Amino acid sequence: MKVIDHIKNAERTLFTLELLPPLKGETIETIYQAIDPLIGFSPSYINVTYHREEVVYKPQSNGLLERQVVRKRPSTVAIASAIRFKYGIDVVPHMICGGFSPRETEDGLIDLHFLGIDNVLALRGDAPRQDKSFVASKGGHIHATDLVKQISRLNKGIYLEEELLQPSPTNFCVGVAGYPEKHGESPNLETDLRYLKEKVDAGADYIVTQLFYDNSKFFAFVEKCRQIGITVPIIPGIKPISVKNHLTILPKTFNIDIPEDLVTAVDACKDNSMVREVGVEWAIQQTKELMQFGVPAIHFYTMGKPDNICKIAKAIF
Ligand code: FAD
Repeated sequence: MKVIDHIKNAERTLFTLELLPPLKGETIETIYQAIDPLIGFSPSYINVTYHREEVVYKPQSNGLLERQVVRKRPSTVAIASAIRFKYGIDVVPHMICGGFSPRETEDGLIDLHFLGIDNVLALRGDAPRQDKSFVASKGGHIHATDLVKQISRLNKGIYLEEELLQPSPTNFCVGVAGYPEKHGESPNLETDLRYLKEKVDAGADYIVTQLFYDNSKFFAFVEKCRQIGITVPIIPGIKPISVKNHLTILPKTFNIDIPEDLVTAVDACKDNSMVREVGVEWAIQQTKELMQFGVPAIHFYTMGKPDNICKIAKAIF
């Protein structure tokens, strides 16, 4: 079922999860172990992230470094379909612009369509670690809007191959990313929202947000979205803090603020097991308030370790 239909049919706030594919060399059991403890809370659908290639430099016996292109977490599509067939739960594989030509994207979408997967989260992707800024592949999409447009065209049966006889349309429900505290590259929130509206106007059915710890920022974001005519559902993304150095890593990586009360509580922890408890408690309070506000779903970033999400789900769902 499409995400948008889950939302339409829901009688309560939906519980949804985001997972990372296992690192290369690990088995699919890694994923099942992350899902099994959460199955009892009936997640409505599970997102599976996409990780592009990275460049690494490996020392050679001659003392020189060899440049190698590696993918540390391949198999988004395989993991998504394995989850779907093992648990019978809908899945939302992420698709990114970076590293793909539109033709490769089309082939990826056809694979998903044939697998019976009719949800995707359409993203631009970040610049590879070694690059300073995002650069599209030759002829590739520069912004997520271009990817959304391609999916919308495919949903009308318009493929890049023009000679096809009676091409059959796909049937994707498309989600896009939103940033309550603005995207890190955007000059200001208003500009970012203007581009967010372009993604929605291009065919996105709903928005999932970047993680945040201050609900007032999310509420203000939703209000601004509505003011500029974005009417689609907006799903908040929640990631419980779990280690002390999240206080410095998360603001830098995701362009977010961490409220002073949370910083103080984390600072007072003697070790990371205490931090994990503080993170759970904060996420429970955040989730309760978001549900009172009437959000359609909560998107939990699980990072493959389900114990903290389990505690939150037990307290709420
Ligand atoms: P865009 O919508 O293209 O926006 C990127 C920047 O360009 C913004 O600053 C925006 O304001 C600006 N912009 C947009 N359109 C235009 C335009 N027409 N002209 C000029 N500027 C424009 N990354 C991954 O690699 N894999 C994942 O699986 C993944 N999952 C994610 C899931 C969620 C819920 C979220 C919130 C993010 C995820 N990301 C993932 C990270 C995401 O790829 C990065 O945040 C990326 O930098 C931006 O992606 P986007 O789709 O928001 O890009």
